[in-house]
Amino acid sequence: MDQIITRFPPSPSGYLHIGGARTALFNWLYARANKGKFVLRIEDTDKARSTKESVAAILESLEWLGIDWDDGPYFQSERADTHRKHIEQLIEQGHAYYCNCTSEEVDTMREQAKAAGKKPMYNGKCRELDLPKGENSVVRLKTPFTGVTIVDDVVKGSTAFQNSEIDDFIIQRSDGSAMYNLAVVVDDITMGINTVIRGDDHLINTPKQIMIYNALGVNLPVFGHVPMVLGADKSRLSKRHGAMSVSEYKNMGYLPDAMINYLVRLGWSHGDQEFFTRGDLIEKFSLKSLGKSASMFDLVKLSSLNSKHIQKTSPGLLADQLIPLLKKNGIDAENDQFTQAAIATLQPRSKTLIEMSESIAFYYKDIVEFDEKVKLKNLKPASIEPMIKVADYIEQIDDFTQENLETAFKKVMDETQLKFGKIAQPVRVALTGTNVSPGIFEMILALGKDKTVTRIRKAIDQIDSSPQTEEL
Ligand code: GLU
Repeated sequence: MDQIITRFPPSPSGYLHIGGARTALFNWLYARANKGKFVLRIEDTDKARSTKESVAAILESLEWLGIDWDDGPYFQSERADTHRKHIEQLIEQGHAYYCNCTSEEVDTMREQAKAAGKKPMYNGKCRELDLPKGENSVVRLKTPFTGVTIVDDVVKGSTAFQNSEIDDFIIQRSDGSAMYNLAVVVDDITMGINTVIRGDDHLINTPKQIMIYNALGVNLPVFGHVPMVLGADKSRLSKRHGAMSVSEYKNMGYLPDAMINYLVRLGWSHGDQEFFTRGDLIEKFSLKSLGKSASMFDLVKLSSLNSKHIQKTSPGLLADQLIPLLKKNGIDAENDQFTQAAIATLQPRSKTLIEMSESIAFYYKDIVEFDEKVKLKNLKPASIEPMIKVADYIEQIDDFTQENLETAFKKVMDETQLKFGKIAQPVRVALTGTNVSPGIFEMILALGKDKTVTRIRKAIDQIDSSPQTEEL
């Protein structure tokens, strides 16, 4: 078997959306799983709709997802000469011809076909005339009148299209530019693409593309048309179902690995496994497990996979992705032991990196910002004694381990006869400013001895110690 060569050919008329990213992923995974090649081609021939910003946005999203390409990006708009050469070959070999019919004439032909109970079609008037190129002539492909064109598809099986329902379609406009189907086929052929996985909205083009392959005498690639992604209401996924662009998910704090894990499950399965690392996917991906039925986009599932990936990713790798978010919030963090330890305490309780970037902030503050209500409720005169003791005992610990911390708290419990919660809660508030945080010991270990002791002492200074009657 030849080396697998796949491609992703986005039209740059907007951001990279969920459906496009899934197509890119399937092609990329198939290439990676088979030590093949993945080609990126920007289909920018529609001048009115293609923008440089979209190209940049698409490349950025692919890079963020970690979908790298071996070849390209090629720009279809720069390949007009190659398209033209193939069109000339088709004319020379009698597979295509110039047509001078005006659009009014073609409209009339269509009306006549309709009146005769047929599909509205061009009637082949110029097909055998062997016309020279005229000022306004287009080029049409000579398509078979009878028989069927069969699309053999790894996802959908065989679909037969009646040739009598496909007219001699245009492959070159009067301005010399190639029509979409011709450009795609010529690009795929000249780039050596032998596997085409795309959305089933393109299935309608495939018989025409097969006719072009046949006319050029080139073997067909393997086709796989995957069902569209649907929204929860089972209609085709669109903006009204929520965020559609991959970059929005990046901004919401999703991990690229979680996104990829989620996207691949929109149409591919491996038993009932839900969680996949990138390595797992490269090892296990195959075309035969692509599903025939459409999948529904489900944000709850994506969020739950994101939490799992946050838990399973190393703190060092998470730090690389978190630090830019912290910088935006004015926190100048480094990917060092302190940051990694702080991240580790939050991994089990963060659904997104945004959530983590907010809940980690207290570790970096020189001055703890108190939630006033929480402060009033938890930092009371009766807390002073246990807090002083906690600070003192922690200060005395040489080997800063969880075990020694637990012993220190135990001593304070014994000496004050207070329950653990009555001691830990004011300490938690002193360290974080709030009453929710990671487990007290893991947090103290991550924060370090000096910061812990300083914060507890500073909080004690803030307690209004005028006589109060309230019970602790
Ligand atoms: N440029 C087309 C699109 O963005 C893809 C064409 C293809 O996959 O053959 O939908």
